[in-house]
Amino acid sequence: MSPIATLVNSTIRPDVQAVASYHVADASGFIKLDAMENPYHLPHHLREDLAQRLADVALNRYPAPAYSSVKQRIRDKLGVPAGYDVILGNGSDELISILCMACAMQDRRATVVAPTPSFVMYQRSAQFAGMDYVGVPLKADLTLDLPAMLAAIAEHKPALVFLSYPNNPTGNLFAEDDIVAIIRALDGFGLAIVDEAYEPFAQQTFMHRLPEFDNLVVMRTVSKLGLAGIRLGYMSAAPQLLAEFDKVRPPYNINVLTQVAAEFALDHLEVLNQQAAALRAARADLMAALAAMPDVEVFPSAANFILIRVPDSDAINAKLLSHKVLIKNVSKMHSVLTNCLRITVSTPEENSTFLDAFAASQAA
Ligand SMILES: *Cc1c(COP(=O)(O)O)cnc(C)c1O
Repeated sequence: MSPIATLVNSTIRPDVQAVASYHVADASGFIKLDAMENPYHLPHHLREDLAQRLADVALNRYPAPAYSSVKQRIRDKLGVPAGYDVILGNGSDELISILCMACAMQDRRATVVAPTPSFVMYQRSAQFAGMDYVGVPLKADLTLDLPAMLAAIAEHKPALVFLSYPNNPTGNLFAEDDIVAIIRALDGFGLAIVDEAYEPFAQQTFMHRLPEFDNLVVMRTVSKLGLAGIRLGYMSAAPQLLAEFDKVRPPYNINVLTQVAAEFALDHLEVLNQQAAALRAARADLMAALAAMPDVEVFPSAANFILIRVPDSDAINAKLLSHKVLIKNVSKMHSVLTNCLRITVSTPEENSTFLDAFAASQAA
């Protein structure tokens, strides 16, 4: 074995060596419908104002670690209940990791439970923090298997249950009553994390219900709303819990440019909300168009993406790639997703380019 391989083996955990890195496809030259990005940019006049604000930022200084002004805007504008604060993450990905680090016990293996298939970072973060992960399969119709979730909670007594609401990659909203049943089943020993990354498209939230449940954490991100590039997530929960999570957070995790860009965007939230409304309308049109095509099963979506099932997902995906259209082939993620493809909703123009390429791919 080479000296560097010996060094890797003696220092890097075997389970880290064994995983594949998080794969991001190279999208240059493609219509990009694989990552749930908002296709709209900020309007030109706002970009000029933002450029000025960013030019004035003191890059030589550390961020003020309280982040009070951006947090104030989040609390005021995004429905955080009175008496509740938020903590910020470098994307909600970092918040997931903070939750796992804070809850991984040293004297025993703590457990994370989540429905599967769901957002891959729940399992990854649990693993890297040294927690056990238990995935509870969705039913064949992709709805939540509540009895199986409750059985897993009774058996494993998880510290954390992650619920993507709506769920990525399936797009559906789990039943509100089922989520409440899970929160109640965890009462006294575990936290339910309702991950509302797609809230602008679902318009359903548990944020206002925080005061009802001590063990509820509501997590969101500005990524899918149109600011994926700035990397900002936030979560709210009972102040006693937030105070603990905040100890795990790196003190300057949100950089000054993100802070200023987020404040600016929240001051113009109506622009982003209008873009989300346009995408909800485009989602309805795209779903209807797909449902009218032969051999396509369209699943319900409350997100800015649509899950479909086709007779041969790999063949369709390969042909879409040859048409320079990038979507996500999720067919190998889990057996309930066999032959499924996930398509991000975009502008009417890009959606229609996609539909043409899709029709051509079916015909070929
Ligand atoms: C995209 C996504 C996230 C990650 O969001 P970032 O804030 O960009 O890190 C979290 N949860 C779900 C369910 C997602 O789909």
